[in-house]
Parts: sequence; C-alpha cells; structure tokens
Amino acid sequence: MKSRTKVVVIGGGIAGCSTLYHLTQEGWTDVVLVERNELTSGTTWHSAAQVTNFGMTQTMVGLKSHSIKLYNELANDPDYPINYHHGDGGIRLANTPEQMQGYRHFASMARGMGVDFEIIDPEECARRHPLISTERLLGGLWDPMDGDIDPAQLCQALARRARNAGAEVYRNTPVTGLTQHKDDTWTVHTEHGDIDCDIVVNACGYRVNEVGAMMGVHHPVASMEHQYFLTEPIQQIVDFGKRVPLLRCPIDDFYSRQEKQGLLVGFYEQDCRTWGLDGIDPNFVNALCPDDVERVMPVLENVFKRMPVLAEIGIHTIVNGPITYTIDGAPLVGPIPGKRNAFCIIGLRAGLGEGGGHGWLLAQQIVHGEACYDTWVIDPRRFAGHTNVELTALKAIEDYQNEFRFHFPHEHRPAGRPAKTTPLTPVLAAEGAEFTVVNGWERVDYIKPSPDFHPSLSFNFDEAFDIIGAEVRNVAENVGLTEVNGFNRIEITGADRHAFLDRMFCGTVTKRDGRVGLGYLLNHHGCIKGEATVANLPASDRGPARVWYGSAAASELHDMDWLKAHLRPDEDVQLRSLTNDQTILVLAGPKARDVLSACARGDWSRDAFPWLSVRECFVGFAPATVLGVSFSGELAYEIHVPNASLYAAYLALRAAGQAHGLRLFGARAVDSMRMEKGFLHWKADLLTEFDPFETGLAKFVKLDKGDFVGKAALVQRQAQGLGKSLVTLKINATHAPARGGASVMQDGKVVGTISSADWGYRTGLNLAYAFMTPALAEIGTKLHLDMYGDLIEVEVIAPSPYDPGFARMRA
Ligand SMILES: Cc1cc2nc3c(=O)[nH]c(=O)nc-3n(C[C@H](O)[C@H](O)[C@H](O)COP(=O)(O)OP(=O)(O)OC[C@H]3O[C@@H](n4cnc5c(N)ncnc54)[C@H](O)[C@@H]3O)c2cc1C
Repeated sequence: MKSRTKVVVIGGGIAGCSTLYHLTQEGWTDVVLVERNELTSGTTWHSAAQVTNFGMTQTMVGLKSHSIKLYNELANDPDYPINYHHGDGGIRLANTPEQMQGYRHFASMARGMGVDFEIIDPEECARRHPLISTERLLGGLWDPMDGDIDPAQLCQALARRARNAGAEVYRNTPVTGLTQHKDDTWTVHTEHGDIDCDIVVNACGYRVNEVGAMMGVHHPVASMEHQYFLTEPIQQIVDFGKRVPLLRCPIDDFYSRQEKQGLLVGFYEQDCRTWGLDGIDPNFVNALCPDDVERVMPVLENVFKRMPVLAEIGIHTIVNGPITYTIDGAPLVGPIPGKRNAFCIIGLRAGLGEGGGHGWLLAQQIVHGEACYDTWVIDPRRFAGHTNVELTALKAIEDYQNEFRFHFPHEHRPAGRPAKTTPLTPVLAAEGAEFTVVNGWERVDYIKPSPDFHPSLSFNFDEAFDIIGAEVRNVAENVGLTEVNGFNRIEITGADRHAFLDRMFCGTVTKRDGRVGLGYLLNHHGCIKGEATVANLPASDRGPARVWYGSAAASELHDMDWLKAHLRPDEDVQLRSLTNDQTILVLAGPKARDVLSACARGDWSRDAFPWLSVRECFVGFAPATVLGVSFSGELAYEIHVPNASLYAAYLALRAAGQAHGLRLFGARAVDSMRMEKGFLHWKADLLTEFDPFETGLAKFVKLDKGDFVGKAALVQRQAQGLGKSLVTLKINATHAPARGGASVMQDGKVVGTISSADWGYRTGLNLAYAFMTPALAEIGTKLHLDMYGDLIEVEVIAPSPYDPGFARMRA
C-alpha cells in the first residue's frame, strides 16, 4: 500500500469507482481508492440499476447524459464488455394535466442539453408497453435512452480502467480515522496503515456519517429502506419479442423494468422507514434489510391495477436495502462545507444512473476547481445551519413518499418546517403571510387574502397572481414593507480589508465610508462565482471601521468558503458571519423616505442620504443600519436590524407607515419587480458557466485595475469572444410564465435557454432572461420559446423595461 498519494477516495461503490476513474481521466493518476470490504459491497451490489436521462435541471440532464455515454462505451469495450441494456426506452406516466405540463417543460429543458424526450398519449403508452392498462392515465414522457446496467460489472470496469491508468485500489481496508494537518493535507488511517494525501473524498454511501465523524462533520444524509420484487417469467414479455420499456409511476409510486423474462418492480410506499440513523452494525456488509411485504401492499395493489397480469405472477425474490436521501433529494457532490481539501459524493439515491456523471463533475471540481456545468444543484454547501439528523430524516421520508412527484413552482413541502425563523415569523404569519423557504428560512412569499387560500400547484400563473399584482402596485404607488431573513452578511474588518476585496472583485468597489457598491467575484476560469454588495461603515460605538459584505441567503457557506480560501496568511483581514444575528426589513416605494423620516431621526433627504449610502441609526428605538439600495426599482431602503430589536423596528415602521399607505409585500412581488429592472439572481442567472461579459455585466469589470481572482482567464475569454449573451425577452403569452431551462428556438434548433422568468406587473409584460447565441441577442430579434410544448413567439427587448433611466430608485 502506498504511504503517500495525491487523492484518497474512501468507498468502492459506484460513487467512489466513478470518482477514481474520472480523476485519472482528468490527468491525476497518483490516486487511490480505499474500500473497507469488497468493491460494491454497500448499496451498489443490489441496486435495480436503472439508468435514465430524465432530470429536473440541465446540470442533472447533462451529467446523466455523461453516464449513458460512458456506460455505452464500457459496454462496447472488447477487452471487458459489461451488460448494459441501453435504449429500451422508458415511460414516466402521468394522470393530471399539471404533470403532463411539467413533462413538457422538462422535455423543453432537456432539448437544450441535446436530449430528446417525447410526450406520448395513453394509447401510445400502452402500445409501447404491453402490460399496462390506460385506466387513470393521461399520457407520459418517453425517454428513449432509458435502460439498466449490471452494477457490479460497471464498478469493476471503472476500477479496471482507473488501475490501468495508474490508480490503485485497496480492498478490505477500512478507514478508521482522518487527521488534517496545518498545511491542509490529510493522513488517512486504515486498518493496514496510514496514507498521507493532499485530498480526501468521502464516497461511503450509507456509512457517510461514520467517515464524516472522523473529520468532525455531520452530513445531511439519511438512509431509507427501499424494496423491489423480482417476478417469475411473464408470457407477454416473452411474446413481446423485445425488452419492455421501463416504467416510473408518480400515480401509484412504483417503477418497473424487465429482469430476465419477468419484471423487477420497486415501491415507494407511504409507510416508509428510515434506516441506520442511530448507527449501523459494522457487519452489515453485502447485506439486506429484512423483507417487509406488508408495508408495500397498498402500492402493490395499485401496481396490479396498472399491470393486471402481475396479479397472477409469482414473486421469487424480494430485495430490501438502504438507499440514501438528502434534504432536497439531490446528492451532495463537491467540497465539504468548512473543510479544506475535502470533498464528498454522497446522498446518491439514483447513484447507478447518475454516478458516472457525478464522478465526472466531482473529478473536474477537484482537479480544476470547477466543473463544465454549474454544480450548485448538487453543491454540499447549499444547506446552512439546519442540517441535523432529525430534519434530514423528515425530509428524506417526505422525498421518498414523493419519489416520482416533481416539485411544482412555488411548492414548498411541509416536512422539516419551520427550521429557521426570526422573531417576526409568527407576527407575519398572523398577518396572513404565506411562506417560501430560502436556505431553511421561512420567508414571506405574499400575504394571503384568507387563511384557507391555497393556490393550485401549476406551471401556469396561479390564483395568487392578482394578490402579487396588488402588492407590486402598492410598492410602485405608495410604500411596501417586507422581511428578508437569512440574507448572507459577512462583516470584514482589518486594515487590509479593501485590498483583499479589491483582489476578490472584478470591478472597482467603493472604499468610501458611508457608501455602498455592487460587485462580482469570479472563479479562476473568469466566470461568475458570486455577487455581493459592499457597504463601508466607519468606526462607531457599534464597532471598528468595517465592510459589510452582503449576498444571497443560499450563498452563506459558499461565499464564506470562497473568501476564506483566498485570505493570505500575512493579511490583516477578519471575517465574521452576521447572517443569523441580523435581519433586513426592506422599505420600498416612492413614500419610503417619508416613512423612514417619520421613525428614524436624521436627514434622509436625497442630498443627505443619496442612493448607495449606508448609515447607522435607530428606527424607533431599535438600532439599525440603513442601506440605500433597491432590488425593486423603486426608492428603497434595506434596514438591517439585530434580531433582538427586529420586532421593535417592525412596529416603528408599521406605525410610521400608516399615514402613507404602507402594506406588506413578499418575495414573489420582489421577484417580479427585479425582472422588470434587469436585476439578476445568483444561481439562476449568475452561473459559473458564463463570464461577466456574457452575463451583461461588462460595466462591473475593470480590467485595468490590477490583478484580481480570475483576471487572466477572463482576459483570455474576452479575446475568444462571447459564447453566449444574456438577454431580456418579452413573451407573447399571458397564461403562464416561462421556466428556467426552457429552450428558445429558431428554425427547429435550440438557440438559447431561459435562466429566469416572471410577469412584470408594472410593465404588463411577460418577461424572461435567456442565455442566447450572441448573433441573436440584437434587440428586436423575434424567436420562439418551447413553452410547455407550444412554440410561443418571443422578442429580445432592452433590459430594464421599467424605468430604464433608473430615476425612481435614485429619487
Ligand atoms: C433497492 C434499491 C434499488 C435501487 N435502484 C436504483 C436504480 O434503479 N437506479 C439507480 O440509479 N439507483 C438505484 N438505487 C440507488 C443506488 O444503488 C445507490 O445510489 C448507489 O448504489 C450508491 O452508491 P455509493 O457508491 O454512493 O454507495 P455504496 O454502494 O454503499 O458504496 C459505499 C462504499 O463505501 C464503503 N465504505 C464505507 N465506510 C468505509 C470505510 N470506513 N472505509 C472504507 N470504505 C468504506 C462501503 O463498504 C461501500 O462499498 C437503488 C438502491 C436500492 C437500495
């Protein structure tokens, strides 16, 4: 066994084998995999091993396409061919128009990744699958690439290729401890000796938290028991003459695929069980959980209705094994929060289908710092501070129960809520607030007209449309108040704080006390890593001179990681998170100044406190820090208040607002208004796949200011010309907004992808942003949007259609 290597991958299931192989593909061959037993002795060996191309985001579709391509290549390797039933096709069934509309959107989105799904009617479903009844069926989505693979052969093939490239695999070598050294390198302790390495990767499946604990980390991953049955041969399958397609059924919560001449049928029962939360028997190796047929009987009865022939066919094998889930159903693939040189590829619930792609994206992240797709949807840092065992288990159960039922827009499922609140949450609930969830925080979405108001789950504009319109109108005409909790706030102190930020941002960000600036952080490839406001606060009785760095709530761990990773040891810079201590009250609208002046002493006139100013004050008797910034396009103030004084500040603002028509508004109104102003959202429009020029942010770049992170790469990208251009589109439809990922088409070809979209109430426009082929970014260009299967006319318009001169927010 080597005593020193570059990377140690811990765990020899699909996750570990794929990572090891892809590290060698990225050129790192001094790498090893350590497995406590034999390869594939965790969950992988008994997987149903279905491999679909279907995904809910372009990143997921892209990584699954990689799996399919890779598995095909492995299957056709003459030296070591493996069994891969590829291209049998699969149907995702639907019995509601809303599900069908969702499938049409996912098909539009996949088209942009070069993947063609087909939407088929019930008769076609039955024609393609000989066993199903069309009762309660509206149709389905056909994935022509669907199939299944031999999981053990797949892992052996990947390990074999990795070994051939120079990697080493140590079986029967349990990792017993991890030590991180001052220089951020690691020693991996195993039963057969120590291995020093630069980087460790946790790929330990359901034992993820045993290895997590060795580095003092708890991962939000919980295991569920999951069962499938194998049937005796079925004559209709024999007679069909080719393999029957796979089925996934959100109506009855099952899946099936052909296994020999019978079927493999898997169940997602409502009466489900978590597994191993309080520890796992060390001898649970190549093992299964006890069968529990009773639990799946209600599902099985529905399966019999969908495939009546099964009622007469015997079952010869039952498999019940642990399968891992996370808080939002997507795996955790990337850097481990708060750790250096440590990565994970865990929480895979469809690891056979996705594993090829996840290992590919992880290896790219390890070797190049970033992958070819924006990997935020699988980034382990996307949950902050609400990731304990209880909450993870609740979300795992909920997700398991809804396995094939995708989330609708604005759907926030109830399990594990509320996780993060402020003193205002119950107050706003009493005001009728409907809450959305942002990084675990309960944030006001809009104010309901009555407690029993529940809009339908739909991709169309829902029953809240007019309510949000009224909130926007009041902000535009009078003044609105909303709470923005969980907003990421990092206090930066120390003599070198400005020099540090200068290095981190690609533009000039103001250093003047009392002033606020907006800036963008790039990665080492010259693409967008982050967006932040920077507010310069002079020394006061509340603290020394300092910068407040503010960014999206979801970026809490991500941005802190990124900033810390770039601190130099000799720099006088300190970073402190205020995210959980402070909450923002946003006051927006032409009468915002009147309201603020009525409850906070001082001169708030335009001359004394112009746009982009920051000042400490008291709102009523609550200490507050006010920033003159706007995301709505109206005159607005962000009022930052310590949570202890939040209710007091709220009461003062509400009292002062009474004379000015102040009403509450929520996140959906904000989202609509920001679309009309050309303002962007981190991880919807601000992605690691595009640079600031492509994202329409040239005015935030200063190439002549000296060096900054990502500059060299950005200069190179600029020389190559734009790959894409972010544009604003006007959509010629009023029934529904576009959705992120939908394809913009010209002459049957995909020429752009929607990044975000919403109705603009002040302009009366159905708006979207899209990353387009640059030649088609000219204002006035007319194209079509594949919107839920219909081709709808869209037109490129100038950004910020509402108040393009930005006079209102500077008023
Ligand atoms: C019944 C069932 C059906 C499924 N069907 C499908 C399907 O159809 N399609 C699909 O895509 N997915 C399916 N899955 C899910 C899929 O099987 C898993 O996502 C995948 O196998 C997980 O692989 P992994 O490598 O993450 O974990 P594992 O396969 O569990 O591998 C983890 C490895 O880490 C090793 N390890 C743990 N601790 C240590 C240590 N301390 N030192 C060294 N090594 C250690 C373990 O021994 C193990 O080999 C199914 C799962 C189940 C249970």
